[in-house]
Amino acid sequence: MREYKNKETRILDRIICNGCGKIIAVKRGIPMEGVFSACQVWEYMSDKDGETDRFDLCEECYDKITEQFRIPVARTEQTELL
Ligand SMILES: [Zn+2]
Repeated sequence: MREYKNKETRILDRIICNGCGKIIAVKRGIPMEGVFSACQVWEYMSDKDGETDRFDLCEECYDKITEQFRIPVARTEQTELL
């Protein structure tokens, strides 16, 4: 869950993990630790047609959830471009 200092300017104040309630500090718009952010727009073929779900998870909650997957997450390393 994202909280904003000012809703009009959308300056991010802090992120609260939807899984455990942990507060993740944000400095100058950048989260100070790893955050998983989801925004799912449900479309016609789903039971939630037209609804949008948003949530944020701390890295620990993300790991707990993805460790339960039958098929592991596909993870690649990002190479930095110079
Ligand atoms: Zn969490």
